[in-house]
Amino acid sequence: MPELPEIYVMALDMRKELVGRTFGEVEVLQPKCLNVPVDEFQTALRGTEIHDITPRGKWVRVALSQGWLLLCLGMGGEILLTDRDHLPEKYRLIFDFRDGASLAVNFWWFGFSHHAPTLADHKMTAELGPDMLDLSLDEFRALLNGRKGAIKTFLLDQKRIAGIGNVYVQDPLFLARIHPLRSIASLSDADIANLWAALRETLQQSIDLGGSAWEQNLYGEKGQWDQRHMHILHLENEPCPICGAMIENIRTGSTHTRVCPVCQPL
Ligand SMILES: [Zn+2]
Repeated sequence: MPELPEIYVMALDMRKELVGRTFGEVEVLQPKCLNVPVDEFQTALRGTEIHDITPRGKWVRVALSQGWLLLCLGMGGEILLTDRDHLPEKYRLIFDFRDGASLAVNFWWFGFSHHAPTLADHKMTAELGPDMLDLSLDEFRALLNGRKGAIKTFLLDQKRIAGIGNVYVQDPLFLARIHPLRSIASLSDADIANLWAALRETLQQSIDLGGSAWEQNLYGEKGQWDQRHMHILHLENEPCPICGAMIENIRTGSTHTRVCPVCQPL
């Protein structure tokens, strides 16, 4: 599932390639991923020019000469720059441009391709918290201040902080020596500073490497952030790289998290 690093890389590549292009037809094989009827969506896009493209949490926001196109890959998928002669085997949407290029979008399960007249009209992105990489330490601290519940649940709640999912939360918690089920109220000032730094470092490292090796970019290439850069995310019945204790894979709500029981005491 793409998270903040993959979406950043995707949006910046899309900006470089697509700004200035004009939409032609749109083919929709999964009408349920739209927020309006298919013909309304096609009419809204046809003839509009792309002015800018920016990442926002796990969304890509495309500013058009009229309105916005908002894309989210959901549980996973691909956005590929191609043309009608080189379409991928699987796709749910094809956006044709007037110059002959096409954008093929595939959702592994279910994603979103929305059109909105203004950003304020689009509830799902308007309700997002700030992107993790935009937060200063003081802002991060202020978001946590007075909050109840477990730290991992908070970090994954897109309405609090946008962009972090179950991939990019595990190593930062380990690096900051914080158990995922620790209550926010139990975190010291030093814990919060360590966590903020570890989250930024992990996300930025992946962006610099083109995203994770599990995901593809706009050109169909895999990212370079892989096991060489992970700390415990990839470990299964193996010892902690710091203390040698066996890494555990514990259930945390609806997800699992790898934890060192010694380095990350509850
Ligand atoms: Zn350990």
